[in-house]
Amino acid sequence: MVGELSERIGIIGGGIVGIALARALLEGGRGDVTVFEKEERVAAHQTGHNSGVVHAGLYYKPGSLKAELCVVGRKQIEEFCAEKKLPYREVGKLVVAVDDSELDALADIERRSIANGVPDLRRIDDQSELHAIEPHVHGVAAVHSPHTAVVDYSAITEAMAADVRSLGGTILLGSEVTAMRQERNGTVRVKTGASEHVFDRIISCAGLQSDVVAALIGASPSPKILPFRGEYWSLAAKRNDLVRGMIYPVPDPRFPFLGVHFTRGVYDDIHVGPNAVPALAREGYNWLTVSPRDTWKSLRWPGAVPLAKQHWRMGVDEISGSLIKPLYFNKARRFIPELRMSDLTAKTAAGVRAQAWGRDGSLLDDFAVDQVGPVTLLRNAPSPAATSSMAIADYVIEHYLP
Ligand SMILES: Cc1cc2nc3c(=O)[nH]c(=O)nc-3n(C[C@H](O)[C@H](O)[C@H](O)COP(=O)(O)OP(=O)(O)OC[C@H]3O[C@@H](n4cnc5c(N)ncnc54)[C@H](O)[C@@H]3O)c2cc1C
Repeated sequence: MVGELSERIGIIGGGIVGIALARALLEGGRGDVTVFEKEERVAAHQTGHNSGVVHAGLYYKPGSLKAELCVVGRKQIEEFCAEKKLPYREVGKLVVAVDDSELDALADIERRSIANGVPDLRRIDDQSELHAIEPHVHGVAAVHSPHTAVVDYSAITEAMAADVRSLGGTILLGSEVTAMRQERNGTVRVKTGASEHVFDRIISCAGLQSDVVAALIGASPSPKILPFRGEYWSLAAKRNDLVRGMIYPVPDPRFPFLGVHFTRGVYDDIHVGPNAVPALAREGYNWLTVSPRDTWKSLRWPGAVPLAKQHWRMGVDEISGSLIKPLYFNKARRFIPELRMSDLTAKTAAGVRAQAWGRDGSLLDDFAVDQVGPVTLLRNAPSPAATSSMAIADYVIEHYLP
């Protein structure tokens, strides 16, 4: 049956990547598609708990999948929002070097952005130009990406899910895949609760659970998912004039996260964050949610010791900032000296990033896909995977579901 129109395809995960994939398969006239989502709604985890930024491709290593699929995906998300009349606001992004020690790293971001084809990128060395874009920012130089945008990824995923249903696909909510087995005839039997389903192909887009789902079909335990929580503070509404668009630090190249930043959201709320602290559960949105099983498994992973040795300083710094507000505030105030502690009103949200982690302790930088017979596994789809979701879907179909 494989390759024919009647092919039965199962997708595990109703985040933006799984739903974009289901939609692309159905739009391409491919078979009969069922999405399994363990929660009672789509976009319940990373997709519904992120910064809402449509990245333009500034940071990623030229030639990497992230670089290629982010640039294509940005256009696709823009077109999709226009078609569905969903908000898409190009508020623009400034990546700011606050002192001379950050100039080399800023130059590297500029080189990467040019190589990746980020549209209309501009280097800014002049204070008046900097203040024309963000009047309250402090910095010695910056790069400006005017087409970096903000959206509502939950609303986008809901709209894609509506397309999936109207194209004849099925989305089964509250349906956790707990077992998978490849049959002698090449099909895959999938178990959810008391029901069983048979497919010609399975694609897993399980985000924070992607290594758990990979284990169900006997794939390599590496890379493992290491959950990193990112917490956001809200900027007091009366201080909304401090930020026009997005103000980002120059990221530390040794670390896969972008650093605490300011983002004007699509609904004009301004959030400050996220930081990056190890989460004590895969879906642990605060310090009180602890999964002894997840934490014990992370600690027992062979990569735990090398990772801790390499990044302990950064870890202590991030955890302290999470627990002690003045430390978080100091990180933010580097960019906006007028900021006051009382302007950070409340920790309003948090997301947990699914970061893949090798046996040797290295954090996987690029998107990664594995294949076990008829089962395709997305093993690493961190930021900018929401931006790139439609391009990731096209890539997986082209390379793994010919
Ligand atoms: C704090 C934070 C900020 C971010 N900011 C941005 C940003 O500004 N821009 C950007 O492009 N990206 C950003 N990202 C990254 C982006 O959100 C993710 O890369 C993207 O959402 C990944 O989508 P996904 O569908 O792979 O995963 P998810 O959205 O996590 O979806 C996976 C789904 O699989 C389901 N699932 C898992 N196991 C099973 C099972 N056994 N059976 C059934 N269902 C299962 C889960 O319930 C979940 O709904 C951010 C992420 C975080 C956490």
